[in-house]
Amino acid sequence: MSTNGKYVISPPAQAALAVAGSAELFPVRRIWCVGRNYLEHIKEMGQDEKEPPFFFAKHPDMLVADSGTVPYPSLTKDMHHEVELVVALKSGGRNIPESKALDCIWGYGVGIDLTRRDLQIASRNLKRPWEVGKSFDMSAPCGPISPVSATGHPAKGRIMLKCNGQIRQDGDLEQQIWDVPGVISKLSEMVALEAGDIIMTGTPSGVAATIAGDRLECEIAGVGKLTVTIGQPLK
Ligand code: MN
Repeated sequence: MSTNGKYVISPPAQAALAVAGSAELFPVRRIWCVGRNYLEHIKEMGQDEKEPPFFFAKHPDMLVADSGTVPYPSLTKDMHHEVELVVALKSGGRNIPESKALDCIWGYGVGIDLTRRDLQIASRNLKRPWEVGKSFDMSAPCGPISPVSATGHPAKGRIMLKCNGQIRQDGDLEQQIWDVPGVISKLSEMVALEAGDIIMTGTPSGVAATIAGDRLECEIAGVGKLTVTIGQPLK
């Protein structure tokens, strides 16, 4: 990739996330997501419990900051919320052993993997890629990133999402099939990881439809919070 010379159009803005309690920003390079990383969610989706988790991607410009509003997206009649622990990397590499994986982490946050469930299931049934269901404008709300110095490395703790004050998702990080070191190690077998990569590490059970006007409040114990409002569709 050449970065010499003048751009013929203005280069896109660098995507970034807030850093908790700071005016500084965490710049985002790539967004990877883990599919089917909690057993109870695999069961509620009617999928094979013995199949290992896997990865898909969203784009950095799809991030939405804390307190943001996500217009109800196009093409779907069944958008779901999936609250997830987000891992933000300060370094990377290829074939990272689990014993070295935590050394790559800058911090943690709370995210929502918004999903056009009807389109995801249709593409799954047609054996097509998942982008139409997973990778759409404003599909990746993510709260501020807290540094490891504040959070430690959370391996257990409540992960919860409320919709309009009612608890919808209520799990524990220790229910993850691949824990965070496992996620980083596996992903680094597939691609080279780098500083600025973030990983949404999968959702516990309780995923459900969300509609315009909903207020989604998420919290992961010891990590942080995220609040998002679902707005009217764009005209
Ligand atoms: Mn997810």
